[in-house]
Amino acid sequence: MKVVSTIQELERERKMLSSPVGFVPTMGFLHEGHLSLVRGAGKESKSVVVSIFVNPTQFGPEEDLASYPRDVERDLKLLENEGVNLVFTPSAEEIYPPGYCTWVEVEGITHILEGASRQGHFRGVATVVLKLLNIVQPDRTYFGQKDAQQAVVIQRMVSDLNLDTEIVVLPTLREPDGLAMSSRNIYLSPPERKVALCIFDSLRLARELYQGGERSTEIICHKMTDLMLSQPQVKLDYVGIVHPQTLKKMVEVKPGALVLVAAWVGKVRLIDNILI
Ligand code: AMP
Repeated sequence: MKVVSTIQELERERKMLSSPVGFVPTMGFLHEGHLSLVRGAGKESKSVVVSIFVNPTQFGPEEDLASYPRDVERDLKLLENEGVNLVFTPSAEEIYPPGYCTWVEVEGITHILEGASRQGHFRGVATVVLKLLNIVQPDRTYFGQKDAQQAVVIQRMVSDLNLDTEIVVLPTLREPDGLAMSSRNIYLSPPERKVALCIFDSLRLARELYQGGERSTEIICHKMTDLMLSQPQVKLDYVGIVHPQTLKKMVEVKPGALVLVAAWVGKVRLIDNILI
């Protein structure tokens, strides 16, 4: 496994890889969710490239960029065990050199849900992903359903800008009790870790209500909210039931609907979703 941190080295090593090339962009502090994307890429491609880059431009000024968990040594061991060919670990200066001033703005779908709570987040995400795609030139690029809106935004950008990579979205990996795996889970205290399960419980409740015949978004969202707010440590950011591609609100829940939640458990902001 080669590990490089400059674009020049990456481009040189990229030329030696057998095609097709699968690419998994990450912010590191890897868990089984990330590794499931790496395995998915490995199954479908001859070579696998992973990037580890905590992208500063997708964090707001009040957000957790400085405290975002990092352990590159451990990440590299995990990736080596998975048989990854090439890892890209650029510095922020490598990606955004002095004078950098070009941004990708995907309109509309980036200003709701996560985008409403995290101003400028998707501008940072779309920009860094476009740059990474241009640098790595992958045949396929893998994203997790865990960040459902991100996957929709990236698919939109790839389609709108005629980018030559196939976007593959793989399911959310969960802990045995149902909590979605996330690098940020490490910051939950043991009691918060228990409380955090109410996020997945609320999604399960939405599915059960739907299966029981309930179709009103308002009623389902209300019951999900009640369930989460029964925990005093939880502060709800949003609950939404939307069309899985357009992210438009649904009044009546239809098959394929995307149910999303964002909530604070103590100081940790968590997101999760399911498709009905
Ligand atoms: P991150 O390091 O948080 O930027 O995530 C890198 C990629 O891993 C993104 O495409 C995420 O959607 C994906 N990912 C994060 N958590 C999970 C999970 N629990 N299951 C599957 N994919 C995930």
